[in-house]
Amino acid sequence: MIIIMRPGATKDQIKQVEEKIISLGFKAHPIFGEIKTVIGAIGEKRLLDTPAITNMPGVEDIVPIMKPYKLACRELQQTKTIIQLDDITIGGPEIVIIAGPCAVESEQVFYATAHKVKKAGAKILRGGAFKPRTSPYSFQGLEEEGLKMLEIARQETGLKIVTEVIDTRDVELVAKYADILQIGARNMQNFRLLREAGTSGKPVLLKRGLAATIEEWLMAAEYIISTGNSKIILCERGIRTFETATRNTIDISAIPVVKELSHLPIIVDPSHATGTWKYVDALSKAAVAAGADGLIIEVHNDPSHALCDGPQSLRPEKFTQLVEELKAVASAIHRRI
Ligand code: PEP
Ligand code: MN
Repeated sequence: MIIIMRPGATKDQIKQVEEKIISLGFKAHPIFGEIKTVIGAIGEKRLLDTPAITNMPGVEDIVPIMKPYKLACRELQQTKTIIQLDDITIGGPEIVIIAGPCAVESEQVFYATAHKVKKAGAKILRGGAFKPRTSPYSFQGLEEEGLKMLEIARQETGLKIVTEVIDTRDVELVAKYADILQIGARNMQNFRLLREAGTSGKPVLLKRGLAATIEEWLMAAEYIISTGNSKIILCERGIRTFETATRNTIDISAIPVVKELSHLPIIVDPSHATGTWKYVDALSKAAVAAGADGLIIEVHNDPSHALCDGPQSLRPEKFTQLVEELKAVASAIHRRI
């Protein structure tokens, strides 16, 4: 249920409603708008004792939230969630570019790539230190050694860091180094991990599961928000379909659909969506044109020797050219890079 307070309702009136909601066994989730405050009453129970609330001073109306993802939905919060990381704004007019190799492999390659993506216009550096690989015999990541390299790259370049966490036991460690925690496609429904990541208080980049519907994805986001952390960046990274020409099939429709259903920002990963560097250019442009709030692109200094996802990684020169071309696409839809 959403309790809509009258314009000009006092702080005291808002507090009283919150206390009432809590006494009825719900969680109160206030959102302070410029004109009105709305309070989400979130809980397992379906029905709130409405007369007890409607008659309270300052209350204008009560409306049910029809969606199962109560905190992530637009019905509760009409304004977009904007995530601020110092001077970087995710979900605002600017389109944020995240780039870097799939995995942190070696100091030499990683720092060189970091400097190049920064020069090209990326604001956030990616690089996995814990890799969720399909085969147990593939490179699994450098773990804390890799996290330390991410830290050095941040100091050297000023880029913010996003890196994946694959296990609840590592959340504290990864959060010590990362500016944004990534939950990968394979873990989208690892509910304990979602909760732990949410509790860390860090922004969370939540990738869409390989075979997840948009509703399942938003329910995963709901797990994070329900910990009190609404700094969530949704990431469309392609889904499994019958098509085999690309690694996955990018769901461009997810961008406008998610924007209609949720207030959370959405970015696109064209690298994992296609599996082939040649297609990254076209799909990056399509994603920006469709309204994505950002892109996460794999870039490697030497893709043919990459330990992970070389075939879908752009060389820095190609990435630089792509960012330049994306500026025109962004400006055509009145946004900027
Ligand atoms: C990644 O971004 O490194 C990754 C493993 O992606 P996904 O979870 O989308 O497969
Ligand atoms: Mn990868």
